[in-house]
Amino acid sequence: MNFDIDAKFLKHFRNLRQVFLYITDECNLRCVQCIYKPSITYQLGRKEIGLETALALISDFRELEASKLSILGGKPTLYGSSQNWKPLLRVIVKAKELGYEYVRLDTNGATEKFSSLLLKKDFKKLDEISFSIDGPTAEINDPIRGKGTFDECVSNVKKAVRLGYNVNITCCIHRNLVTRGASGDLLVECMIRFATSLGAKRINFHVLFDRGTPEDTWTTPEVHISPQEWMGIYSEINKNIEAGKYQIPVRIPQSFIAWEEFERNPDYYGFCPAKLGERVLVHPNGIIRICSSLLSTPYGVARYSNDKIVWDDGLTNELQDHQLNKPTPCTNQSKKYSDEKFVPLCFSFKSKQDEFIWRQKPGWEKIRTFKEGKNE
Ligand code: SF4
Repeated sequence: MNFDIDAKFLKHFRNLRQVFLYITDECNLRCVQCIYKPSITYQLGRKEIGLETALALISDFRELEASKLSILGGKPTLYGSSQNWKPLLRVIVKAKELGYEYVRLDTNGATEKFSSLLLKKDFKKLDEISFSIDGPTAEINDPIRGKGTFDECVSNVKKAVRLGYNVNITCCIHRNLVTRGASGDLLVECMIRFATSLGAKRINFHVLFDRGTPEDTWTTPEVHISPQEWMGIYSEINKNIEAGKYQIPVRIPQSFIAWEEFERNPDYYGFCPAKLGERVLVHPNGIIRICSSLLSTPYGVARYSNDKIVWDDGLTNELQDHQLNKPTPCTNQSKKYSDEKFVPLCFSFKSKQDEFIWRQKPGWEKIRTFKEGKNE
């Protein structure tokens, strides 16, 4: 191990599977709905994880048996871009050498220089590039991501597909994406078809709500949709997924469920990475956290410095309200929805998700198959 890691950390992360390495807090865009906005806006302090520290962290997390690495930010393709991306490429190569089975990178894809990065031999070692596009047309995407971003990103998606990358699309579901097009189809469906036409292998959705979490104060309420709207849309899309209507896998968050249904299968619907200790989110400011609803806040579970990873024993420990041994609705969103007939589920709860980490080491996903009487 490179770091002296305290026992509480090792105990909580005994089932560590994935690392989200927020390698830089720099970004060339300022998207309206960005949940990382305070971190990319703030100009003081360390804005990126130094190369040697990044390599040491991913090495130790690999020793704890993480097998999937997501490189993100900010915009990770800004990491070392002035050095012909040598630092970024070194992280990718090292991760594969360490035995990470799945290494992926998230990007807004909105830069011309990106096409030369796509040609780099070491960049091609990535198992997935995920491009963020928030609508099937510039008219829907650009008002929230910035003028010209749709055309630039789509052009880079096409190049990446031509070069043989495994391209995924990540899309935020926002107010302008929950209406219907001229054909009567939901624009969310148009987005799935658009991603398919670009050659993407999968589409992954996030939904923008007022959640009762810190991001409510820095994402713009005008783009949010209501839980009631979402439950109708989810049900329609999910039926189509079940009927095999789409040509590519669709990962879509259920987000809310009726109390009675939650109580029918709490172990499954109570999925919470914070309780499972299956992931770490690592940031340039030294914070290690689990829940992405706390991005850009002081909350986390631990801090790393040059040679130590220390558990947070104070009031900024994000687990302070969690009932660690009991399946519950999402702890961080529950107070907001305490008067409703439905309960909030984890941001990451995407039913029947064909997710690498659950394929590798069945765990939580087995609960579903067991309860539904299937023996997968
Ligand atoms: S969003 Fe809720 S359920 Fe998911 S990790 Fe955070 S606290 Fe847990």
